Amino acid sequence: MSAQIISGTEIAAAIRAELKDRVAALVADHGATPGLATVLVGDDPASQIYVGMKNRVAGEMGIHSRQHTLPADTSQEELLGLVTGLNADPAIHGILVQLPLPDHIDEGAVIETIDPSKDVDGFHPMSVGRLATDSGAFFPPCTPAGVVEMLVRSGHDPAGKHVVIVGRSNIVGRPLASLLLRKARGGNATVTVCHSRTADLATETRRADILVVAMGRPEMITADMVRPGSVVIDVGTNRVDDPGSERGYRVCGDVLFDEVKEVAGAISPVPGGVGPMTITMLLSNTVESASRAARLRG
Ligand code: NDP
Repeated sequence: MSAQIISGTEIAAAIRAELKDRVAALVADHGATPGLATVLVGDDPASQIYVGMKNRVAGEMGIHSRQHTLPADTSQEELLGLVTGLNADPAIHGILVQLPLPDHIDEGAVIETIDPSKDVDGFHPMSVGRLATDSGAFFPPCTPAGVVEMLVRSGHDPAGKHVVIVGRSNIVGRPLASLLLRKARGGNATVTVCHSRTADLATETRRADILVVAMGRPEMITADMVRPGSVVIDVGTNRVDDPGSERGYRVCGDVLFDEVKEVAGAISPVPGGVGPMTITMLLSNTVESASRAARLRG
């Protein structure tokens, strides 16, 4: 029997509707419009598309977004100056510096300059540390937070389940493991993290109640690697050549969808899975940041 499809598009739309209401309430009750500043250095076309999308969706939700586009030869000092100014700006509740940055800029120094209370990307070492120790206020990184929301909202709460994650990057695999281990909503799972040095990947993935794949390897997870009835979330976003298509390529995940959907109990597609959730969680963090600021003001 074919698996339940976990649609990130539908879940993201539901969360965006909730966020719209929260924004309206913040404006009505506190006169506070959530503000997101996006910073783009250089003219990388993919980064321009991502930042444009983030600003467009923010606008749809009533979030004020301000884009700072700087030339590729911007000095590190200038960039740090901009971030410091945004830290002090009360109209801005979230700061997103689009990565990657040009080679002459130290990404770590830029991320560490963002005020953790406005770190809606969740990459500041303070945010990472608070997530890892499950203590204090922080914003979870957007892609892993999106995966957790997809699981909870599709009726597959990870609590008590064995979740196997394939991938240990700092933006997906590691923070996802930390989120799933928290004693909180969307947490309380038993977690295994696999990577390229895992001795027998298929044995590990077959042990999963919930399998989350973030490898960046097109369609590498095949049906024989998945336990029948398990839940599969595919984070992978890969472009592969497709001479038959108009664009000459197609976008696919790390999971061989057509095959695995016949074995899994539930599965997220690519596109239309984790992708739409990532932007939504960025905006959710921004709205939460504005709520915290409004509460602090009383
Ligand atoms: P990275 O390349 O940083 O990490 C990939 C991870 O997969 C590494 O830990 C690597 O192991 C592991 N891996 C690679 N090959 C194998 C293998 N053969 N067996 C076991 N493990 C393997 O990628 P990211 O985490 O940044 O991204 C992963 C995928 O998710 C990409 O397709 C990316 O485009 C997508 N993505 C999608 C997002 C979305 O919004 N939908 C957001 C972010 C990413 P090792 O550490 O040993 O090298």
